[in-house]
Amino acid sequence: MPISRLFIAAALVLCAANGSAQAQAPAAAPSVELETLAVPPGQLSDAVRPIAYRLDLTVDPAQPRFSGKVEIDVVLSTPSRRIVLHGRDLTMHKASASFGGKVQQGNWYQPDPTGVAVLVFPEAVPAGNVTLSFAYDAAFNDSPAGMFRVKVDEDWYSWTQFQSIDARAAFPGFDQPSFKTPFTVTLRTPPGLEAVSNAPEISKAMEGGLEVHRFAPTLPLPTYLVAVMVGPFASVEGAAPPTPQRAEPLPLRIVSTRQNAGKLSFALEGSKQIVALLEDYFGDAFPYPKLDQITSPIMPGAMENAGADLYRDALIVMDEEAPVPQQRRFGMVVSHELAHQWFGDLVTPEWWDDIWLNESFANWMGYRIGDAWKPELNIRAGALAEGFEAMETDALVAGRPIREAIETNSQIDGAFDSITYGKGGHVITMIAAYLGDERFRAGVRRYLSAHRYGNAASADFFAALAEAAGDPRIVAAMRSFTDQQGVPLLEFRREGDSYIVTQHRYAPFGASPPAAHWDVPLCVRRGNERLCRLLTQDSAEIAVGGSGPLVPNAGGTGYYRFELAEHDWSALITVADRLPGGEAQAVADSLAASVLAGRAGVTQLAALASKLVRHPDSYASDAASAALASMVSEGLVDSFGRRGWVRFRGKLYAPLLKQYGFDPRAGAYAGEQPERTQRRVQVVERLVGSSRGRKVKKRLAKAVEHFLAGDSSALDPSWFDAGFDAYLSRKKGDGAAGLLLERALASEDPVFRPAALNAVAASGIKDVARRLLYDFVDPRLRASERRAILGGIMSSRATREIGFEWIREHLDDLVSGSNGVFFSARLPRMFNRFCSVERAQEIADTFRPRLAGTPSEMELERVIERVRNCGVLQDTRGFEISREFEKLD
Ligand SMILES: [Zn+2]
Repeated sequence: MPISRLFIAAALVLCAANGSAQAQAPAAAPSVELETLAVPPGQLSDAVRPIAYRLDLTVDPAQPRFSGKVEIDVVLSTPSRRIVLHGRDLTMHKASASFGGKVQQGNWYQPDPTGVAVLVFPEAVPAGNVTLSFAYDAAFNDSPAGMFRVKVDEDWYSWTQFQSIDARAAFPGFDQPSFKTPFTVTLRTPPGLEAVSNAPEISKAMEGGLEVHRFAPTLPLPTYLVAVMVGPFASVEGAAPPTPQRAEPLPLRIVSTRQNAGKLSFALEGSKQIVALLEDYFGDAFPYPKLDQITSPIMPGAMENAGADLYRDALIVMDEEAPVPQQRRFGMVVSHELAHQWFGDLVTPEWWDDIWLNESFANWMGYRIGDAWKPELNIRAGALAEGFEAMETDALVAGRPIREAIETNSQIDGAFDSITYGKGGHVITMIAAYLGDERFRAGVRRYLSAHRYGNAASADFFAALAEAAGDPRIVAAMRSFTDQQGVPLLEFRREGDSYIVTQHRYAPFGASPPAAHWDVPLCVRRGNERLCRLLTQDSAEIAVGGSGPLVPNAGGTGYYRFELAEHDWSALITVADRLPGGEAQAVADSLAASVLAGRAGVTQLAALASKLVRHPDSYASDAASAALASMVSEGLVDSFGRRGWVRFRGKLYAPLLKQYGFDPRAGAYAGEQPERTQRRVQVVERLVGSSRGRKVKKRLAKAVEHFLAGDSSALDPSWFDAGFDAYLSRKKGDGAAGLLLERALASEDPVFRPAALNAVAASGIKDVARRLLYDFVDPRLRASERRAILGGIMSSRATREIGFEWIREHLDDLVSGSNGVFFSARLPRMFNRFCSVERAQEIADTFRPRLAGTPSEMELERVIERVRNCGVLQDTRGFEISREFEKLD
């Protein structure tokens, strides 16, 4: 990528950096021409290539800052006075270059706020091998970006989270994925602390009052996969036994903060099994010499650091009795992160424009392997649910394709969204289903073995798949889904014994996105007859044998929506409760999409909801009623319509409660089939908000009272969400919210604490929302939790305006600083549930000027469009829709 010629911009940023004393040049730094400080806006050139790092870091999590001595061996392609690299907000004490027995001191500048830095020397450094040396210190972050720390109970811990471009906030380097080198890490910590990094620890000794942990050199890694964790951790350890792919046992540890010590064995056993399943799939041994699975209470999700994965506590810390959704997330997320050890870590994308390849594949594998780990959890169905959810975002005009060019550093984080994960995962599902498991796996293996410990791009993966499939048309089909935005809508029109299929781009009511064409791997089914073909034309005739209604998305694996004539919809709705779960989800998605496009009616969707509610698959059973519920919670439906909905929901779910029974005590349903347990939880959660749920609500609220009074057996964690809702809505004004809040902050339980905080925030009690936003100060409440609380307040219709007003007043604080950047990317999503043309305009006027040029720019445009679309639908058809809700029966 060419060097940026925006010298003026660079100079302005430099002034700002010096002014804040964050990125300071050494005192004696001579004045330097602006051109010297011009830096590329995105990718670095290959002029300087790192070949090895030695990181020697002094890390005491109890202190606000850490320090480092770093050496990087590099190769210069031409002599140069300046080296462009990365480093963000590092206080640089010394920087030098050694070559041919000489040492030359350099000056460090950070002209770019995203952390592009320049090292300037008085004379040219020659071409060839050079060692760069740095001494610096920097502040810990309190959010999971770069090197961050948190106090848990009485102890401080620190962890690292570097993806995408936050390694540069921990050490100077060449922070982009194409540069893969060995890292030799040394950590100096206060005595008695544990230290974890990517490679095995090879020695520990006291030096100068500090404990020095030395780690073996790693296999080649990009900077974003390096990890350093320090604290008085608890751990359990074992080994994944040898497999046909691996002769030696693989050392394995689960590492967490001390209060979680008793709840780590489940993850140890699960991780062993998942490693073996992945090795079998890839036909290849785990690529690193050990595996640590580490947890932090404030990680938002998980990160695939090579050999040292990091997870949010709740993803790992659990036992066999954990709620079904928690166990599902364990299987899915651990499979996802460990799949990355091959797909992402062993073979790494050259640049962030191909990060979709990492994430889409890992997402698909997370569900695929999670499902193989414990089929009874029905983890695979979650993949489809995630894909159908992403269609809602993908249907907007604002947005992006799965794969797009990334020209600037501030665009990178925007690539980690539901398009990359949800849509990308579904597109992989579609291709894998179309090719068949064997051929798809052969393509994956071919790709990995060609690029081991190196880098690759999308084209390499497509080529490997096409070769394995023996069908080059697959490449064009995949590209039509990865390189353009939008959801295909396939319209099926019956003509004699066959169907005419016509493709368009799906559009919600009133929207007119540009036309598009896909090569759709189409699979349909009638009875036992399944037909797959590649739909390359805009319109085609298909003849399907078999009998019964046409299922236009067989297995639900296709990334498309469909539209049917009314009688074909009716025929499909009649059999919906007997369709496989994935197909039932697809029917619910397409019918709800048809309602939002102004075609099908609410009554049809309600008929589907009545059928599906008895479906044994917990993802399918609620799909149609959830679509109706979100129309209500977005405010599309008036108060009479809402009453109709509450009545209808009571009628739908009350009979199921009789069938499943209800006992809130801990372990009451231990040993039951997970899908049955999960259905009961869903039924109770829906009933709590309906007129038929009074008894259940009372019982739950009582159980919560006992639980909060110290009887932990009174309430199973499965009922935390429904229970706290019931408790708060029955005890309004009794200080119940204050008590629950206090209990949450006094607890480090990874399930209870966030559930209780969320219940208080989302309670819809206006006084509580105001107090939380304006008056509540408590050092135990973490920065990430404050943001979650704001999200909870925005999720409830009753308190949404209070939250909106507060955000408007506090926007500058919210988006400033490095934590702000992290947060502002997610901020616009908080406005998702508004539904009005005027509000869309207000959001645009207020936030566009402030968020321009930030990673949240695109998300803001999506939200504005979504809120406006909903408003247009309400203005045009809201009355009619509300009357349909009112009459539901
Ligand atoms: Zn991932």
